[in-house]
Amino acid sequence: MSLAKRDIVPKILADSGRPAMRVPKKPLKPKKCRVCPTVFAPRTSLQICCSPWCAGEYAKSSRERKEARESRKEYREAKDKTKSRADWIKEAQKSFNDWVRARDALKPCISCGRYHQGQYHAGHYRTTKAAPELRFCEINVWKQCSVCNNHLSGNILEYRINLIKKGIDVDWLEGPHEPKKYTIPELQGIKALYKQKLKDIKNS
Ligand SMILES: [Zn+2]
Ligand SMILES: [Zn+2]
Repeated sequence: MSLAKRDIVPKILADSGRPAMRVPKKPLKPKKCRVCPTVFAPRTSLQICCSPWCAGEYAKSSRERKEARESRKEYREAKDKTKSRADWIKEAQKSFNDWVRARDALKPCISCGRYHQGQYHAGHYRTTKAAPELRFCEINVWKQCSVCNNHLSGNILEYRINLIKKGIDVDWLEGPHEPKKYTIPELQGIKALYKQKLKDIKNS
């Protein structure tokens, strides 16, 4: 036994408490190359291409994808800088409304109680004009059919009755509220929050 080997062996014994066994290496499962249709036997688990040429192509295309992703991000950030507060309110409202419709997907129209094919909106009980401070209030906005929302001005009498049936504090909704002045970062936060909540519903 060489000096070096004598040094190593007791160390392995100390670590595992058992004599080290030489486990024969299992050959790795064949893989399909990420670039061409070749199926190959990888030498290491990290190898994803059949040949150096394909590996080069793969690196090039992932670099290009990364660059495209970065330029899209830069474009989006530049565009975001030109957006006004009103634009952000609109975007946050869309994100919030999309979530409302998903939350109530299995419920009928809040006003007429009908289930039907066709378009549904997120209908505000107190409108965003009358009570802008309740525009993102989860108990003020419910899934509503387009007929009630657009043509019957929210069908508010029926809406009120059904909110009470749900146990919603209608008096609170109708009462006075502190005005809210959202900052742009707050609106961005609301948009992101309801986007995430929508994703959570879709994934559940
Ligand atoms: Zn290949
Ligand atoms: Zn309706």
